[in-house]
Amino acid sequence: MRILVVEDEERIARFVKTGLEEESYTVDVVGDGPAALDWVASASYDLVLLDVMLPGLNGFEVTKILRSRGVTTPILMLTARDEIDDRVRGLDAGADDYLPKPFAFKELLARIRALVRRAATPGKMDTMLEIGDLQLDMVSHVARRGQREIELTSKEYAVLEYLMRHPRRPLSRTLIREAVWGYDYFGASNVVDVYVRHLRQKLEDNGEPPLIHTVRGIGYKIDDVE
Ligand code: CA
Repeated sequence: MRILVVEDEERIARFVKTGLEEESYTVDVVGDGPAALDWVASASYDLVLLDVMLPGLNGFEVTKILRSRGVTTPILMLTARDEIDDRVRGLDAGADDYLPKPFAFKELLARIRALVRRAATPGKMDTMLEIGDLQLDMVSHVARRGQREIELTSKEYAVLEYLMRHPRRPLSRTLIREAVWGYDYFGASNVVDVYVRHLRQKLEDNGEPPLIHTVRGIGYKIDDVE
């Protein structure tokens, strides 16, 4: 899942980004209101974590503009402690929830999970991705192949989730890398291949039919029929 963090205080932005990435979210950070509008328009986010006090446009203004453009992405607003006005204004502007600063990281995670779950509920009752006999629970992060439960590291989970959200579609290594590691990743260039290898070992090590297929010259796709 991809989250946009809109926060001009670098220390907080870094703390939040690091913590969320450990929980296998993909995180982009921008530091002002106009940039938030641009980024929401150009990528698809599962949630926007939006500070109220921002340069350019404040969090209320950003929320209003996004909602007026028909953007329904859940917005969790970071407000000042004890500013009841801020909370009401935020919700009135179209935010889905608020969290007063300073906050405990555990609480931030709980709010994010609740919003993502709520957003997934209308229409579809589940937060489960499925292909063939493979199931992936997006809330608990547990994978299951038939009856076999499979433990995943946070990055393995994120790669698998991305593949399963785009089933039967060839996805380039660059797309996968940007979706999972973000645009500012400068580590090993074969990182996607390394994680796909891990996933194959875990998902296909009991002689089950392969699900993750190599697409020559492009990258990978997940498919239950070859
Ligand atoms: Ca701020």
